Amino acid sequence: MIKRITNAPSWLGLSLDRTSFVCHSDRAEIVRQIFQFSIDGFGAYSIAKLLNKKGVPGFGSSKKWDKSTILNMLTNRATIGEYQKRRRIEGKKVIVGEPVPNYYPAVIDAKTFEAAQVALREKLANRSGRRGKVITNLFFGVASCFYCSQTMKFYSNNNKSLICSEVLSGQGKCPRFAWTYQDFEDAFFDTLNLSPRCSEFSAALLAFRNAVEQNNEPGVLDARMRMTQILRRSIEGITVAVAGTNPPAPSRRLIIRRDNPGRFFKVKFADGFSLEGFPRLLETPPQTEPEGRIISPDELARLFGLSPRQAQITSFLVQGFSLKQTAEKVGQTIETARWHLREIFRRTDTHSQPKLIELVDHSCPEMNLDR
Ligand SMILES: [Zn+2]
Repeated sequence: MIKRITNAPSWLGLSLDRTSFVCHSDRAEIVRQIFQFSIDGFGAYSIAKLLNKKGVPGFGSSKKWDKSTILNMLTNRATIGEYQKRRRIEGKKVIVGEPVPNYYPAVIDAKTFEAAQVALREKLANRSGRRGKVITNLFFGVASCFYCSQTMKFYSNNNKSLICSEVLSGQGKCPRFAWTYQDFEDAFFDTLNLSPRCSEFSAALLAFRNAVEQNNEPGVLDARMRMTQILRRSIEGITVAVAGTNPPAPSRRLIIRRDNPGRFFKVKFADGFSLEGFPRLLETPPQTEPEGRIISPDELARLFGLSPRQAQITSFLVQGFSLKQTAEKVGQTIETARWHLREIFRRTDTHSQPKLIELVDHSCPEMNLDR
């Protein structure tokens, strides 16, 4: 007996004799695209908005996409070929019997389907739907912890951050630090933007920044999606060291601190190339060498009757180092260095750093060309 089929998911059609399914390849492609967007961290609302903006026709009669259509599709196991019989009982659709695998031609593989479910759960947990605006995690599934290799999670309460999943689960020995998402993203963008091999990414980044500037929200979404796709294609993984190479010993305090100054990340590209990146704040221009004169401590000790330590400190100050830098150089705390400085003032009768330097300059004119 030939079984006649009456109904098919919207991306499939029926053969003329209605005994088998046929795949609308263009629609199947859209389904796959929607799953990819979800895995890339975009919510159902954003995906619908983008498809409409791009003029991709919906599968329903209205030809428009909305949040619930997208959500239904992302959770519909018919995409992986499964059939689930349902009956309407007292007005409610109720599941009847076991699901039947391989009933429909699958348009999504099981791994992709699972990844989309994980992404959806993460999205729900973060409640970053419409209100989340355009802050989405571009690094979903590619960022892992430098210390334990576990996934870096996109965590949001009032300040979105990337945190090692071990830390979030309250286990593991990872440093209890998070990297503020925006800060990480900026650092990441800067790093890729500076690398000549990432020109495609730089172009998308430029479009993104322009769209942000013009307050063009669909443009922002579009550019972020493009960046996500480039990343997914060209990057094998990103390891994130939230607390640098020498993290402080894990404390028993529960608090998770943000943005350790030593933080950095490593990007590994699919072709084996790798890049290292640091937060924007640390990208200060290289410190220029102090331009003062170098006068030997022995000379200073002799001229002004200073102790060897006082002479050493004076020498650094005359070279143009700050008292803080000087303290670091001689291995003292700033307080100790200040204590010495008072004694230096007393012995040279100067009472201020500029006066001290002036005095030394006048006392050692012949050493001007010393450097
Ligand atoms: Zn970790």
